[in-house]
Amino acid sequence: MNIETLLVRAGVERDSTTGAISTPIYQSATFQHPELGVSTGYDYSRTANPTRTALEEAIAALEQGARGFAFSSGMAAITTVLFLFKPGDHLVVSEDLYGGTYRLLAQVFSEFGIQASFVDTSCTKEIEAAIRPDTRALFIETPTNPLMKITDLEKAVVLARTYGLLTIIDNTFMTPYLQRPLTYGADIVLHSATKYLGGHNDTVAGLVVTRDAELGERIGLLQNACGAILGPQDAWLILRGLKTLAIRIEKQQQNALAIAEWLQRHPAVETVYYPGLSGHPNREVAERQASGFGGMLSFSVHDPDIVPHVLKNVKVITFAESLGGVESLITFPARQTHADIPEEVREHLGITDRLLRLSVGIENANDLILDLEEALYVKK
Ligand SMILES: *Cc1c(COP(=O)(O)O)cnc(C)c1O
Repeated sequence: MNIETLLVRAGVERDSTTGAISTPIYQSATFQHPELGVSTGYDYSRTANPTRTALEEAIAALEQGARGFAFSSGMAAITTVLFLFKPGDHLVVSEDLYGGTYRLLAQVFSEFGIQASFVDTSCTKEIEAAIRPDTRALFIETPTNPLMKITDLEKAVVLARTYGLLTIIDNTFMTPYLQRPLTYGADIVLHSATKYLGGHNDTVAGLVVTRDAELGERIGLLQNACGAILGPQDAWLILRGLKTLAIRIEKQQQNALAIAEWLQRHPAVETVYYPGLSGHPNREVAERQASGFGGMLSFSVHDPDIVPHVLKNVKVITFAESLGGVESLITFPARQTHADIPEEVREHLGITDRLLRLSVGIENANDLILDLEEALYVKK
């Protein structure tokens, strides 16, 4: 089955007793045992819940992995995956990545003796140079957030295998519709399903998929032991979101390209970061490993004083954190999503007080461009 079809079929026809098309929301904490030693497959909803199972099986099929797991947020998913490691372990991590992941590693897991080195993973040499005898995994976001750098998945996996490391990919920006890292040999894919998979800025959720069943068993144990599971109502909302993912992303990336090209010609704009632009340094890698460039872009302006003006004056685009929904959102990473990254690190990465990030929605592209044109206009 092609991915558009798989997406629409997510969770469909799972209830043979009623024939419900939509997966029922099994709002039950516990399940009756038919007799001693006999189970329906469901005992207690932290361990497994039928609505959550429908979502977990759907994401595993979409990412072409062995097992899927649903969590109460993207951070809960990442936290659970990081419990695979123990004191003394070291990870090599993309340097410009989701600020919450940086905070989790730098301020929480560091206290438990798990170390991380943050490097530019779009450069394979930099990854290799950061690998130490105690390194256990590569943790990669591609494209990176917010600077949209692309890591070559195939090369990263080859390197990881040479050194016996796990490869963990945060696939939130691309989704399985555009990029399936497990097919390149990555071991774990994870998502903030809050973003594109849910797609409507109405649910917080996280997903994990493992390539093989053995690693799946370990994540399953951690999910049940730590307990940061997704509730049935929210699992249903993510299933509902999946059905329209393909058409949403097609429209979002069509809009994103139009906006990126328009921004590039705007005199107030310094640099546009979008992998679909012909000048993007990693465009060829992006084209090879993903079937599209997605709906996220960032841009820097020459004058930092224009930033508050833009954020105040957008009308169609909303000034808010998050991404991947049908509504276009604009973010100021240095003060919002990436505020917990130390200032000198941010400056080094290019996450400056002149950088804005745009999550492009499914509105009419001309309305979005007109909105930006008006917001970028400053009366002299
Ligand atoms: C939002 C986000 C997360 C965190 O997910 P939550 O659902 O907000 O907990 C992780 N990674 C990326 C790339 C994100 O955009």
